[in-house]
Amino acid sequence: MQELFSSAPAAGTRAARVLMDGLNDMVLDYAIPPGMQGVVRGSRVQVPLRSRHTTGTVLQVVEDGRWEGELRPLTRLVNDEPVVSPVLMDIAEWAARYYAVPVEQMIRCIVPEPVRQERHEEKTRKVVVLTEWPDDEKLNKINARAPRQAAVLRYLHAGDTKREPLADLGGSAALPACRSLEKQGYVRIEEETVHRDPAGKEEFALSRPLELNPEQAAALAAINRAVDGQDSRPMLLQGVTGSGKTEVYLQAARRVMDQGKGVLILVPEISLTPQTMARFKSRFADLPGSVAILHSAMSDGERFDEWHAIHRGKARIAIGPRSAVFAPVQNLGLIIVDEEHDPSYKQENSPRYHGRDIAVLRAAKEGATIVLGSATPSLESLQNTRTGKYAMLRMDKRADGQRLPLTRVLDMRSEPKDKRYLGILSERLRMAIDERLAKAEQVILLLNRRGFARTLQCPDCGFKVECPHCSLPMTYHVTENRLICHMCGHRAVVPRCCPECRSTGILLEGYGTQKVEAVLQRCFPQARIKRVDADVTARKGALSAILHDFRARKTDILLGTQMISKGLDFPGVTLVGVLNADLGLCVPDPRAAERTFQLLTQVAGRAGRGDIDGEVIIQTYSPEAGAIQFARRHDTDGFAETELALREQLQYPPFTHLAVLTLRSGQEELAQFSLATLHRRLAAALPPGVEITEPMPAPIAKAHGQFRFQCTIKSPSARTVADICSREIARMNFGEEITVALDIDAYSFM
Ligand code: ADP
Ligand code: ZN
Ligand code: ZN
Repeated sequence: MQELFSSAPAAGTRAARVLMDGLNDMVLDYAIPPGMQGVVRGSRVQVPLRSRHTTGTVLQVVEDGRWEGELRPLTRLVNDEPVVSPVLMDIAEWAARYYAVPVEQMIRCIVPEPVRQERHEEKTRKVVVLTEWPDDEKLNKINARAPRQAAVLRYLHAGDTKREPLADLGGSAALPACRSLEKQGYVRIEEETVHRDPAGKEEFALSRPLELNPEQAAALAAINRAVDGQDSRPMLLQGVTGSGKTEVYLQAARRVMDQGKGVLILVPEISLTPQTMARFKSRFADLPGSVAILHSAMSDGERFDEWHAIHRGKARIAIGPRSAVFAPVQNLGLIIVDEEHDPSYKQENSPRYHGRDIAVLRAAKEGATIVLGSATPSLESLQNTRTGKYAMLRMDKRADGQRLPLTRVLDMRSEPKDKRYLGILSERLRMAIDERLAKAEQVILLLNRRGFARTLQCPDCGFKVECPHCSLPMTYHVTENRLICHMCGHRAVVPRCCPECRSTGILLEGYGTQKVEAVLQRCFPQARIKRVDADVTARKGALSAILHDFRARKTDILLGTQMISKGLDFPGVTLVGVLNADLGLCVPDPRAAERTFQLLTQVAGRAGRGDIDGEVIIQTYSPEAGAIQFARRHDTDGFAETELALREQLQYPPFTHLAVLTLRSGQEELAQFSLATLHRRLAAALPPGVEITEPMPAPIAKAHGQFRFQCTIKSPSARTVADICSREIARMNFGEEITVALDIDAYSFM
C-alpha cells in the first residue's frame, strides 16, 4: 500500500488515515476537526484533495501522530454512522491480501454504490391531508372560482382517512391547486417516506414450524449447541434433496432471532430460488420488515433501502446471493450458506472472492455459527469434515417420506439415428414424456449448454463460422436470424454459402435450447412448453413469470439450461430428462466431474417431490463415467471418496491451491512476450513446492478483441502465490495496453 503524507510537523493532532476512493489504494492523513469526533475506523468521509473534494474510507484513527506540517481537515462525514463495521474492515483487508486486489476494491463490494455516495436519498412522496372541510357556501364559491380545488376537496372528503397521495389527485398537475388550498388553510401537504420493498406488494401468510423428524431434530440440536457456544466449528449439513434442510434453517434462525441476534442467509441466486426467500418471509410474517432481500437485479433505490434497513437493525434477517456475505447484519448470530457447492459463489471478475469462504471467515470473526448446506457438498467442504475442521451433520432421508427417484442412464451411442429428432431425444425418453403428458404430470428437460450451441459448419470443407474478435464459434439465433458471439456480443448475418468453398450445404451443427424447443413442439404438439435460458431471463421478471406458470401447472414441459437445476421445488414434476449429460465432462477443468455429478444429482432431486414417484432419464454418450454412475445411485459418499482419492493423487484442490494468471492485450505479441517475462521472474521468485506451468494461450485464446495467455500455478499456500505475484506484477509496471488478472482459487480455467 502506498502511503503519502500531507506536508509539515504538528504533534498531538487526532487524525484519520483515509483510503481514497478510486485512487489505487492511496492512503492520506487528515485532521479530525472538533465537530467530527465521531469519526472511527470504517467511517465514510469527504476530504479535500489538491483543489477538489473526494471521498474515502477511514482505515484508522491515529491519536498522537507526528506529521510534517499541518494536516488538512476532513470536510464532512458522508454517513452519520460508520458504514463498515470493524469486522468487515478486517475482512476487506484480509481478502485484499488473499486475492491480491486493492483494499478499496473489497470496500466497494462491502458498501453498495448507492450507499457509498448516499446519492439515492430515501424516496418520499407528497401526501395531501384535509384539515378543514368548508361549508356548502364556501365550497360553491371555491367551485366557481377554481373547480379543480373544489374537486380536490371533495375527493379528500370522500375518503376514510382524509388523506391521499398527491399522485392519486392528479400528480404534479394538481400541485398548484393543492398549494393554493394549503394557503387558504383547507389542506396540508406532507412528505412521506416510502420504503421500496423488492418483494413488492406480495403478502406472505404466516407459516408454522413443522414437527421435525429425528434426523432434522438431531441436526437442529447440533446447530443450537453451536449457537450456544459449545462448538465453534463450521458445520456442513449434508442432506439429500427434500430432506428438509430449509425447515432446519428456519427453526435455527427463529431461535437466534429470539436471542436478539441477526441471521444471514446466502443463496445461489434469488430469482432461481424464490421459494427460499418466500419461506423465510412467511415464517417471520409475525415480525413485519424483519427479512431483507438483497437481490442482484434490484434497483439502486431498493438496494439503498434494504441495506439501510439491515444496517439500522430494523431487518435482522438478510437473504441474498454471493455479495450479501457483506450485508451489515447487526449482532450476527448465524450464517447459512444454502447449496454451498454452487459455483456462483465464486465471483468471476475482480475481486475474485469466494462467497462461501468469506462467510466462513466472517462467522469466525463475529463469533457466529455457520451452517453450509447441500445435497452434494463441495469436495473442499467434505475434505474439511474429514480432517475435523468442520463438523458433519447428515440427513439421508427425504422429509416428505418420498423415495428418491429412479434414475436410468441411456446410452445414446446405440440410439438409431432418426433425423426427425436429430439426436436430441431418445426413443425411451420420448415415450416417457408421452406417458407423463397423458397423465397430466409435468416434465423438466435439462440441456447442458457448456460449450455447446448451434453453430455453422461447412459439411464439405469443415469451415466453421467464428467470431472475428474471439476465435469462438458463433451461435445461430432463430428469433433474430442472426449469428451472435456469446463472448463479445458481435452479430453477423447468416451466410448463404460457405465463405471458404462456396458450398451451399453449410448446415447447422449442434443444438441450443431454441432448437430443442422446436423439436419438442414437433414431437408433442399438444404440450405447453416453456424455455428458460440466458436469452429469456435477460428480460426482467421473465423468469419468475415462467416459474410461476409452471408451478400453477399452466406449462407441461419446462426446458432449461443448468440454471433450472437449482433449488426448484415443483410437486407436479414426475419426470426429469437430462438431454446431454456428458458435455460438462469435456471441459479442461479439474472440477468437471464434480460439477457433472452435482448437476445430475441436484436435477434428479427435482423429480417426484409430490405424491407420485419420480423418474429421471439421463442421456449420455459416456455412460460409464463415474460422475454419471454415482449420480444414478445417489451415492454422494461413493463419488466423494473416489474423486477425493483422484484429486489427492493428482494434487488438485482441495489438496492444493490453483491460481490462474492471465495476461490480455489487443497486441498478441505484447501479451505473449510480457507473460514470458513475468513467468521467468515468478519461476525464480516462487519457493520450492510451488509449481508454475509454462505460459500458454488460454482455452479461449481471444475474446473481446484481446489475446489471452495464461499460466496455472499450483501451491500449498494461496497466500504465497498472491504475495509474490502481486509484488512481481507491480515490478513489471505494465502499461495501459496490458490487463493482468490473477485468479486465486480459480474455478474457471477458460
Ligand atoms: P431441502 O431444502 O432439504 O431440499 P425442503 O426443506 O425443501 O428440503 O423440504 C422438502 C419438503 O419436505 C418440503 O415440502 C417441506 O415442507 C417438507 N418438510 C420438511 N420438513 C418436514 C417435516 N418435519 N415434516 C413434514 N414435512 C416436512
Ligand atoms: Zn466449405
Ligand atoms: Zn466475439
